[in-house]
Amino acid sequence: MIARRQTVTVNVGGVNIGSAHPIVVQSMTNTDTANAEATALQVAQLARAGSEVVRVTVNTREAAAAIPEIVQRLADLGLSVPLVGDFHYNGHILLREYPETARLLAKYRINPGNVGAGQHHDANFATMIEVAKEYDKPVRIGVNWGSLDQQVLARLMDENTAAGSPKSGTDVMIDAMVVSALESAQYAEQLGLPHDKILISVKVSSAPELWQVYRQLAAKCDYPLHLGLTEAGMGMKGMVATSVALAPLLTEGIGDTIRVSLTPEPGASRKLEVEVAQQILQSLGLRQFLPQVTSCPGCGRTTSQFFQELAQKIQDYIRDAMPEWKGRYPGVEDMQVAVMGCIVNGPGESKHANIGISLPGTGEDPRAPVYQDGKLLTTLKGPRIAEDFQALLEKYVQDRYGRDQPVAG
Ligand code: SF4
Repeated sequence: MIARRQTVTVNVGGVNIGSAHPIVVQSMTNTDTANAEATALQVAQLARAGSEVVRVTVNTREAAAAIPEIVQRLADLGLSVPLVGDFHYNGHILLREYPETARLLAKYRINPGNVGAGQHHDANFATMIEVAKEYDKPVRIGVNWGSLDQQVLARLMDENTAAGSPKSGTDVMIDAMVVSALESAQYAEQLGLPHDKILISVKVSSAPELWQVYRQLAAKCDYPLHLGLTEAGMGMKGMVATSVALAPLLTEGIGDTIRVSLTPEPGASRKLEVEVAQQILQSLGLRQFLPQVTSCPGCGRTTSQFFQELAQKIQDYIRDAMPEWKGRYPGVEDMQVAVMGCIVNGPGESKHANIGISLPGTGEDPRAPVYQDGKLLTTLKGPRIAEDFQALLEKYVQDRYGRDQPVAG
């Protein structure tokens, strides 16, 4: 059991974020927010995939003007997922010029490195905080190493130079990011924003630096922390890098909401970032989103593709069925399914799952024993093993998790 670092709770449009609540999965659109139809459709796709909060960029007047239509379109689809506005450079202008947008957004993301330089910095920041107070909205102070507040960095560099044993440039940069986030949060509170209306993120693109920065932050405040590796990259590289970066911190109880920043493959669905975030939390035992399919890697004993195809088919079937199962079969997300390539480890693994199948390996009898709740249920044979197993799985879900059914096992 992982003990979470204690934080206050911040309510983001009805979704509670903090150590007293499950770690929240969030995501961000990559559509032009000014295109309300495309953005609403992508928000809907992300929300249906399991994103509990969705961020959209609000970078222009057109984007700010589109928010009410996006919210209305989502309502027409029966969705009320909280929308977060991502502001850089002109947030103080847009939030004032578009009060309905300010009212409808569930949270404002403010990057203290991008709110204006010099004398304008504090005034612009203060305007955004005033709007947040007016509409009773939380903010995320979102520092990013690529847009670090240069005034803070210069100040810490000077202090470091004057110090007896200067730190490395990387360490100073990490200190500067933490200082920028915490001083901004402190300033927001001085301006009257309540303590429980603030979340913090400080994103970098290297795992060891992410650990360093978040451990410092965690030790210095009790704001909920938004965790993510920025610019994680594409495909497998991005997924591995994010998992490696997030897992140690989550294991230490650090992180109250996560986002996986994957560059989508051309034409690929944006919802992969939500699925990866869910899988990270599920793999750590922090949350359970959908039944776990355990499948062996296969080896020389599985020379046909049938085994891989069945494992994929069952995984896809479960993912597609989950939106409906969630409502009809409470607790189904805890189910364990095993799809094993042969009888070496297959029956043993299947017995530990709720339901599991061991396919015939090369040279074995063309029979597939199915175990349910630790006992041999049946042995499937013939050309329809995949379909027959899917039917058994479906029946198991109905019998085990159906509201009107007696609980088995
Ligand atoms: S269960 Fe069988 S097929 Fe799968 S990896 Fe082990 S020996 Fe190979």
